[in-house]
Amino acid sequence: MTLPNYPNTKLYIDGIWQDGTQGRTLDVLNPATDEAIGTVACADLNDLDRALAAAERGFAIWRATPAFERSAIMRRAATLLRERAERISLWLTQEQGKPLTEAKTELSLAAGLIDWFAEEGFRVYGRIVPTRNNLVQQLVVRDPVGPVAAFTPWNFPINQVVRKLAAALSTGCSIIIKAPEETPAAPAELVRAFVDAGMPPGVIGLVYGDPAAISTYLITHPIIRKVTFTGSTIVGKQLASLAGKHMKRVTMELGGHAPFIVTDDADLDVALDAAVAGKFRNAGQVCISPTRFLVQRNVATEFGLEFASRASKLRVGDGLADGTQVGALANSRRIAAMGELTRDAIERGATLSAGGERIGNIGNLWRPTVLTNVTREARVFNEEPFGPLAAIQPFDTLEDAIKEACRLPYGLAGYAFTSSLRNTRMLTQGVEVGMLWINQTAATWPELPFSGVKDSGYGSEGGPEAMDAYLNSRTVSVMQV
Ligand code: NAD
Repeated sequence: MTLPNYPNTKLYIDGIWQDGTQGRTLDVLNPATDEAIGTVACADLNDLDRALAAAERGFAIWRATPAFERSAIMRRAATLLRERAERISLWLTQEQGKPLTEAKTELSLAAGLIDWFAEEGFRVYGRIVPTRNNLVQQLVVRDPVGPVAAFTPWNFPINQVVRKLAAALSTGCSIIIKAPEETPAAPAELVRAFVDAGMPPGVIGLVYGDPAAISTYLITHPIIRKVTFTGSTIVGKQLASLAGKHMKRVTMELGGHAPFIVTDDADLDVALDAAVAGKFRNAGQVCISPTRFLVQRNVATEFGLEFASRASKLRVGDGLADGTQVGALANSRRIAAMGELTRDAIERGATLSAGGERIGNIGNLWRPTVLTNVTREARVFNEEPFGPLAAIQPFDTLEDAIKEACRLPYGLAGYAFTSSLRNTRMLTQGVEVGMLWINQTAATWPELPFSGVKDSGYGSEGGPEAMDAYLNSRTVSVMQV
């Protein structure tokens, strides 16, 4: 395969692709080979000031642009993204590590999501509310909230951006995106598709640099009216409290620790297919990845053995290589975390049934790992593993499993497998998560809310709820004189 040259990524400010004022850059590494493949430009405060002033001007232009034209530009961007998907997927895999097929899926879902939000922009309806006085007309008008600051992580370089970008644009907001320094080229290509589709200058800004310095500056700046972040709960809480101090609207998509409940009346084959596909997608670096496998005791041994057997057969390697099913972890921090969590679980009584070690010493390759009989005290049953590590624990009654599912402060995704209507009802009512999938893997279509409860955050990044997050509702009452 001939690879297109991996690019050096620039900032996009006020309609111009540019280096940072100070010329500072960071290296970008290929996590499968450890090689430096390019650089990314870093913004300083001067660059941020220019991006903010441009976002203010861009907001004035974009909110006055008819919904029909906004939608047309968004649809053109989706078309360009589809046309360029082959090249962008290659860069995405090089910088992030996931198998090429997964990168292509990410691109295709992103284009579909843009189309959906482009349509939804036509449905930002206000209301005429019946009045108590016939001389009065009562209106509810909905306006874009204003310039948005968005912070996105490295696990889905395109899809973490596109949910925020598409919702902001379809409601008439401008947006400054602080995209991930470790995987900068793919999000820059997403922005380029919008630029080439005819987006006016200032509506979208793209910066990279020191995440803490940039978020502090943007969140506290008076031009920014809305903050949206995807990442860990610990960082999310810091950013949400800063935003609260400055009275900014906030959407937080944070960590999860998804229970995956299998009852003894479930179709085990369906559950195993979903377990393996869900657990090892993007090498487990997914906020909705299944992480606590709770299996009814009389089928737990069979489930664990088969899960371990299937995990051991997965082909791990460079995401660009033919047949790779699990790619490299995105950075060496995840390798260190996998080692620590595996050791800790074994020390606390778990059995290592598959994997449990790094492959070679080049690239962040980790063998798909299955731990059985994991105890509740093990760190992996309490901290988000964010890697290719499945931890299984048996349970006796469904009440016990639901209690365990709700034990942690997280509440993002959950999965359950059962053929009983009674169990389904108990699970639906009892499992405290923002997204529950029963007898299936995750299906995160744009028309559905994508959101967590409890420490997994608030606000939604899918469905009409995602539009609400970028809109103000205002009352206008008109008396006839
Ligand atoms: P991290 O928590 O430092 O960073 C996670 C993301 O947040 C990165 O993109 C980082 O640039 C950004 N970030 C960190 N501090 C920030 C700040 N002050 N302002 C703005 N952005 C900030 O650690 P990490 O090693 O990159 O990832 C570790 C953990 O993060 C994972 O174990 C996982 O729990 C979580 N994570 C979650 C998601 C998700 O989809 N929810 C994605 C990536 C990482």
